[in-house]
Amino acid sequence: MIAKIINGLKIAKKIQKKIKKKINERKKNGLFRPGLAVILIGKNKSSKIYVKNKKIACKKVGLNSKICKLYESTPEKKIINIIQDFNKNPKIHGILIQLPLPKNLNTPKILRKISYKKDVDGFHPFNTGLLCQRNPRLRACTPLGIMNLLKEYKINIKGLNALIIGASNIVGRPMMLELLLAGCTTTITHRFTKNLNTYIKHADLIVIAIGQPNFLHGTWIKKGAIIIDVGINRLKNGNIVGDVEFNSSYLKASYITPVPGGVGPMTVTSLLQNTLYICENYYDKKNL
Ligand code: NAD
Repeated sequence: MIAKIINGLKIAKKIQKKIKKKINERKKNGLFRPGLAVILIGKNKSSKIYVKNKKIACKKVGLNSKICKLYESTPEKKIINIIQDFNKNPKIHGILIQLPLPKNLNTPKILRKISYKKDVDGFHPFNTGLLCQRNPRLRACTPLGIMNLLKEYKINIKGLNALIIGASNIVGRPMMLELLLAGCTTTITHRFTKNLNTYIKHADLIVIAIGQPNFLHGTWIKKGAIIIDVGINRLKNGNIVGDVEFNSSYLKASYITPVPGGVGPMTVTSLLQNTLYICENYYDKKNL
């Protein structure tokens, strides 16, 4: 069996085109332009690249973006004041804090200061709670992007045994809730899981997000499994690879996402989608 490659770049472009069209229509109808604020704290190289890419994506679809760069030594109180200013700013509809934060900062405490209505990353406990209760509004970007990929490829996942490898707050846990909501029977594993292979060999759908290059080998997976690779790992030679050993998995899976060009472009697209969602649902209608 040779897997069908899920082309995240193509789908991301398609969704971004729709977003751009909607933003243009807003302009024609005299509605305000959506605005996104991104807060970058410290000097993490990957974070700088991600923020730059987000700024480019905003520009492409016609969204206003404001990047706020802060030193690692910025006191927590000052960061919270900045967030609160953005919460009140009528030109800003989405607020994102680029993670990971420097170790001296209390990440959950800072994230909770973003108004749940401007929580474009879907990490606020209110939004996570709504997803948990099967009533999602603002949804975490990477899992939302993956759900969009599955939808675009018309992959019927209802009733599948879905395995999520990696249990982080930003990918694994919300991914589990999304798949549960979509009718999968979900299992989530992590670094303390014993006999990981037992779970892998029974899984119809695997989403892996652990940050370990080429970890999941094709010989471990079930024939015809759907493989979604979230990992982004930079090798010493500069190449970027995922958490899945692609060549062996490609020969056994039914669908597979490549790295790069799979999940990554969808994450940025979800961010644009969520910013627009906030404008349409919290500001245009004022009914939520
Ligand atoms: P994290 O470090 O916060 O969490 C990793 C999780 O993997 C933890 O739950 C840990 O217990 C688990 N884990 C580690 N080793 C394991 C093992 N051997 N077996 C089973 N579980 C194991 O990481 P994260 O922020 O969720 O990111 C994971 C990867 O996904 C990274 O490579 C990151 O760069 C990438 N990522 C990509 C996107 C994207 O848009 N494509 C978005 C976010 C993160």
